[in-house]
Amino acid sequence: MATNEDQKQTESGRHQEVGHKSLLQSDALYQYILETSVFPREHEAMKELREVTAKHPWNIMTTSADEGQFLNMLLKLINAKNTMEIGVYTGYSLLATALALPEDGKILAMDINKENYELGLPVIKKAGVAHKIDFREGPALPVLDEMVKDEKNHGSYDFIFVDADKDNYINYHKRLIELVKVGGVIGYDNTLWNGSVVAPPDAPLRKYVRYYRDFVLELNKALAVDPRIEICMLPVGDGITICRRIK
Ligand code: SAM
Ligand code: CA
Repeated sequence: MATNEDQKQTESGRHQEVGHKSLLQSDALYQYILETSVFPREHEAMKELREVTAKHPWNIMTTSADEGQFLNMLLKLINAKNTMEIGVYTGYSLLATALALPEDGKILAMDINKENYELGLPVIKKAGVAHKIDFREGPALPVLDEMVKDEKNHGSYDFIFVDADKDNYINYHKRLIELVKVGGVIGYDNTLWNGSVVAPPDAPLRKYVRYYRDFVLELNKALAVDPRIEICMLPVGDGITICRRIK
């Protein structure tokens, strides 16, 4: 039954239909998802990598287990074979990708920090999927610039996951849209940026959250009007925007 609140929101246009409020109303509900459908199905290597990462001081950067499961499923659904990842950290999303790809699948993985990748690498090797990964240490943008110069790289990627420096996402998008194939997918991670995308201007945000927020807002606006892609923004993890290239 519609409440007064629902009625008000419908009138103001915020919710087009009653019952479309955010599904995750509590931490308990999130725990329920993890415990019911994520952890019991998690690959043992993914679990081990999650445990290795949990001990690292920057563990807040890792992809969550439910998002890892989502990426793994998405890659299988689209039959991805040639993929790219920008922002590896200890490799949780990378492993989710590597496990989803066929034996001859490929991931070009880039990160400015190799040490963290090497923390996760023994687990990735044990899982038998390290041969799919071509890790390049260094900033991603110059690599993309080189790739874009060569026509044969155009339209060659089935899937690209972007989870690195948020102030460069727009720059990445300009290059990646050339490199992903028509019908292929780019996933931009953290597009709800800790919920800060709807924070009032005077909200007490942590310094880095505030700094990157404007870039995330710009990206979200740009993706929403880009005619070369179809998009779907999912409230999984910290928000992931799935972009399907259509031209
Ligand atoms: N996808 C990872 C996972 O599942 O654990 C998390 C990635 S973490 C949020 C962001 C990563 O981006 C960091 O490891 C950081 O070193 C990397 N990074 C930052 N700036 C970069 C750049 N310009 N090029 C490539 N990687 C960068
Ligand atoms: Ca992320």
